Amino acid sequence: VSYLPSGMPVPEPGPEDHQFWEACARRELRIQQCAACSHFRHPPAPICPVCRSFQSVWTLVPGTGSVFSYTVAWHPVHPSQRGKPPYNVVLVLLDGAGDVRLISNLIDVHPERLAIGMRVKLRWDEIEGGMLLPLFVSDEKDLASD
Ligand SMILES: [Zn+2]
Repeated sequence: VSYLPSGMPVPEPGPEDHQFWEACARRELRIQQCAACSHFRHPPAPICPVCRSFQSVWTLVPGTGSVFSYTVAWHPVHPSQRGKPPYNVVLVLLDGAGDVRLISNLIDVHPERLAIGMRVKLRWDEIEGGMLLPLFVSDEKDLASD
């Protein structure tokens, strides 16, 4: 079951990020990393913002991290969300990927219990068309029984 309601627009992989989405299809979270200076960057881009190298690799990261920031959307921003419960959007500071923060959803935590610094772990979410989105669940032991 998808976290967001059916009918939501889905990501459309382009020339810069298709390798990210192809890795997701294999249930691998890979972040683009400069082959020259090792700087991680996301969203993907053709040139390293630090050293301007065009060479990059796609580094597998463990899929754990912490909530860097978040918001809760109470109002529908798309017709498919009308009448649905509120949902969150989180920025996850990924472990093992420098200062990369991935925009995602934390799917198992009530809006009132969201907190900056909360430990999270990856959970693949299959959406319409079979695409896999990297979403997150709480990795905090005291919230596990909710
Ligand atoms: Zn670089």
